[in-house]
Amino acid sequence: MEKISLGISTCLLGEKVRYDGGHALDRFLKETLGAYVRYVPVCPEVECGFGTPREAMRLTGDPEHPRLVTTRTGVDHTERMEAWARARVAKLENDDLCGFIFKSNSPSSGMERVKVYDDRGVPRKIGVGIFARIFMEHFPLLPVEEDGRLHDPTLRENFIDRIFTYKRYRESMDRTNRRGALVDFHTRHKLLLMAHSPKHLKQIGPLVAHAKELSTQELVGRYEQLLLEAMALKSSPAKHVNVLHHMLGYFRKNLSADEKRELVDLIDQYRSELIPLIVPVTLINHYVRKYDEPYLKKQVYLNPHPLELQLRNHA
Ligand code: SF4
Repeated sequence: MEKISLGISTCLLGEKVRYDGGHALDRFLKETLGAYVRYVPVCPEVECGFGTPREAMRLTGDPEHPRLVTTRTGVDHTERMEAWARARVAKLENDDLCGFIFKSNSPSSGMERVKVYDDRGVPRKIGVGIFARIFMEHFPLLPVEEDGRLHDPTLRENFIDRIFTYKRYRESMDRTNRRGALVDFHTRHKLLLMAHSPKHLKQIGPLVAHAKELSTQELVGRYEQLLLEAMALKSSPAKHVNVLHHMLGYFRKNLSADEKRELVDLIDQYRSELIPLIVPVTLINHYVRKYDEPYLKKQVYLNPHPLELQLRNHA
């Protein structure tokens, strides 16, 4: 797989672009995840021409339509930032982004819970940064996250699942036979989809089964929408347990009673949060190789992202 193209707030890469001349380096993003992605850095305040260092800004007024105002001198930069942001997101169309990681709490880049100050100067954490809002309006289904939220193991695994899946999907759609590639992609991703949204998996099944009745454009458009909606829903221990039991069913004839008991016990221990997901998944991977199970060996669920990211060691 080629590197994944991912937008990111520039300061998270350690660039000194913050209002005070500092940065907000996140080592996991820059070094660990950075080995698999091609970052497209965006600093709205610097690219909009405010320079570094600069006067700090904040959101004020109506939380639905906040103004971007400098904190000391009260200069209103809303129109300038909005015009720049619209032009920038249009340009980002050319970067094949599979997602974006925003810097939290920023009046320009924050994705949620950004402080909005009322007339009396009282803040409420209910805003969205100006650039982040315009980006999410322009790319409503694209995976987005914030640096702070990515420290949560579940949110981190979900986001990385989404960007790797979207990249694989894009690569599949680059093939000449898009219809055949889509059916193959779907077959390989069934269990991963089940881990995110069994409901969407049920909806997608008939779409793929009747693929021949639709034009390629309609099929691809509807599939992509459902895929991204499904992947946006978080996987959970209960959903993973469902998938693990489903996979167990494929070994009904191969495993001895003892081996089945051991696997069921591991799944129960995972359900009780005594062991991480990687433990039952590793044992199932072992049986898939040992018995050369043809359906499961194709399933991306068993190896959705590089082991080096250690995502399932904590989930
Ligand atoms: S939070 Fe956004 S605007 Fe502020 S320095 Fe970082 S990238 Fe630039």
